[in-house]
Amino acid sequence: HADHAMYGVKQSGRNGYLFFDPEHSRRAEERATAIGRVQEALDRGELVLYYQPKVDLRRGVVLGAEALLRWNHPERGVVPPAQFLPLIERTGLSARVGDWVLAQALDQVEVWQRQGLDLSVSVNISARHLQEPDFAQRLSELLARHERPLGPKLELEVLESEALGDINLTSSLLARCATLGVRWALDDFGTAYSTFTNLKRLPVQVLKIDRSFVQHMLADAQDRAIVEGVIALARAFECVVVAEGVETPAQARMLLDMGCDVGQGAGIAYPMPAAEVAPWVREWRGLFALSATPTPPAP
Ligand code: C2E
Ligand code: MG
Ligand code: MG
Ligand code: MG
Repeated sequence: HADHAMYGVKQSGRNGYLFFDPEHSRRAEERATAIGRVQEALDRGELVLYYQPKVDLRRGVVLGAEALLRWNHPERGVVPPAQFLPLIERTGLSARVGDWVLAQALDQVEVWQRQGLDLSVSVNISARHLQEPDFAQRLSELLARHERPLGPKLELEVLESEALGDINLTSSLLARCATLGVRWALDDFGTAYSTFTNLKRLPVQVLKIDRSFVQHMLADAQDRAIVEGVIALARAFECVVVAEGVETPAQARMLLDMGCDVGQGAGIAYPMPAAEVAPWVREWRGLFALSATPTPPAP
């Protein structure tokens, strides 16, 4: 992956797992070392959040950004979450890291507000974190640290595949958090096995179409039908629909024509360090600028 660095990550490790090899991490001693490493990373500030903008496809305006975790490793450089989230899960640190991500993201919303930017933030929540007995309580405490009510500025993303694990439990947990004013999104939608019955019972306000469908929809009629289907479903459920992995102006245009609400992807902006968001928003000229024919160089 030559362009992997564009996502703010470095490709390394033979099997893709830098810190964690599921085959060789059964021993308690290794687990203890792993816990120590994650805790050190937190204490030394090696965990950082990148932010990827989301834009309103119709109006072109920037609505907010999704927080994406990176490990800024002293030797390995910027490491993507796929390489260390399994480690965090296994060491039982999902809640600790997850709380840190939430706190960080809420602080960032306040920083943006001070910079005159009215942006929402999306945070990925693992099922493990969500199922902590006091998740809603801690979320409420994190929100209460801020003077202004930030609940409406916070969108929480849960993977479709994880949300369906225990539908009764998940529904009640999501509903409890919704009383704090936060919105829920079903992430990577279309890749799991939602039945309409399950979907009807989940109190979510946003569906995020998985990027695999978006990526091939121009060439593949079936993927296009899936994208259209999800958009229609979102309409019927009165959900906002977000397309992830928008890489080209043609994809953005087709999504807009299909009635999709929000777009996110490399064609709009790559995930970026927090400090780059405000300058990026100021430079952003709207989606029309993406498809505009470049001005020919002066003779
Ligand atoms: P996700 O939530 O579905 O996030 C989208 C992923 O797609 C991100 O990968 C992003 O960098 C990548 N992406 C964005 N636009 C494009 C595009 O146009 N083309 C392609 N090919 N890729 C694109 P990333 O940052 O490596 O994150 C991977 C997954 O790790 C996320 O998928 C999410 O499930 C998880 N994750 C990231 N941060 C956190 C976190 O703080 N907590 C938890 N629990 N999970 C996280
Ligand atoms: Mg996500
Ligand atoms: Mg996703
Ligand atoms: Mg994904």
